[in-house]
Amino acid sequence: MNVAGQPRDVRAVYRGRMRAAVIHGPRDVRVEDRPDPKILTPGDAVVRVVAACVCGSDLWPYRGVSAVKKPRPIGHELVGVVEALGADVTSTRVGDFVILPFTMSCGECQACRAGYPAACDLVTGFGSTDRWGNPVDGAQGERVRIPLAQHSLFPVGRSEAELEAAGLVPHLLSLADVMSTGYHAAFSAGVSAGDTVVVVGDGAVGLSGVLGARLLGADRVIAMSRHDDRAALAREFGATDVVAERGEEGLAAVRDLLDGDLADAALECVGTEQSMDTALSVVRGGGRVGFVGVPHGPDLSVRRLFDRNITIGGGMASARRYMETLLPDVLSGAIVPGKVFDLELPLADVAEAYAAMDERRATKVLVRP
Ligand SMILES: [Zn+2]
Ligand SMILES: [Zn+2]
Repeated sequence: MNVAGQPRDVRAVYRGRMRAAVIHGPRDVRVEDRPDPKILTPGDAVVRVVAACVCGSDLWPYRGVSAVKKPRPIGHELVGVVEALGADVTSTRVGDFVILPFTMSCGECQACRAGYPAACDLVTGFGSTDRWGNPVDGAQGERVRIPLAQHSLFPVGRSEAELEAAGLVPHLLSLADVMSTGYHAAFSAGVSAGDTVVVVGDGAVGLSGVLGARLLGADRVIAMSRHDDRAALAREFGATDVVAERGEEGLAAVRDLLDGDLADAALECVGTEQSMDTALSVVRGGGRVGFVGVPHGPDLSVRRLFDRNITIGGGMASARRYMETLLPDVLSGAIVPGKVFDLELPLADVAEAYAAMDERRATKVLVRP
């Protein structure tokens, strides 16, 4: 028995079905009946999803850019309440409200110890298979089995009712990926006090990158955005300027704003050839680029980095690490990163959630089971 007086092993409790989103192919996401997850190893937890969301990276398979070989559960961002724990999990208790980083990690390997759990030796994603060969559910559903729960679960320290009443759930959910990823872009670009930073990409991650750059002390943040609503949120998050042009014209507009100079750092938050090219173009010699867009195209020229002494850093964000950094600011209301959610839908309407993001009718959609 655990401290909450509930059985640690819930194999006897859940034998039913749950509802969860499954992607079948391009523009085909369905809500289906799935087996209710249960504890399979002593390191597992079962979490009841309170809120999940659709990610820009979910749109790659949705749009057919990455192949969907067979139907699979989808979604990798969630907050929820711990319903059951395997015998080895002591970091949380049943009933705790937790944030899940978008990848699970062991907390013990060299990468984890160095603060890079996204590069964990045992890194496990949602909608995949864990190292023991057991399937892992997607986050867009009613419940999820979490392997490597000891290190992966991040308890918030307040009750579900309290957090709902305070309206904090969307802001906490943003720490599962987009806010942590935007912060990682700024951190990886070495943004520090007084810097001028250009943010390439006005999706939820780019907007979060604006916030991250300001938190790390940037004086001036130029957001590249062609959408009025996103540009407005970028300004609310601390952007001092907005550039709507792209490519050569975008570069000229940045130079204009900076009296002929370029930025100290750029955050690449899209993952395409053009966005990486823009990020590399807008930084001065000796400048720094933090990249967090899932790469779909860019082929980096080392010569280009060499000639202009550009430092590049980043990759998949270690969200688990940044939750510790960012949670106090979220709980105090100092930052409101959940403002990137501009639509909320029930899980039953998850297909519409994808369509709304695909058609840019929404920046980011929160999904409630
Ligand atoms: Zn994501
Ligand atoms: Zn690890």
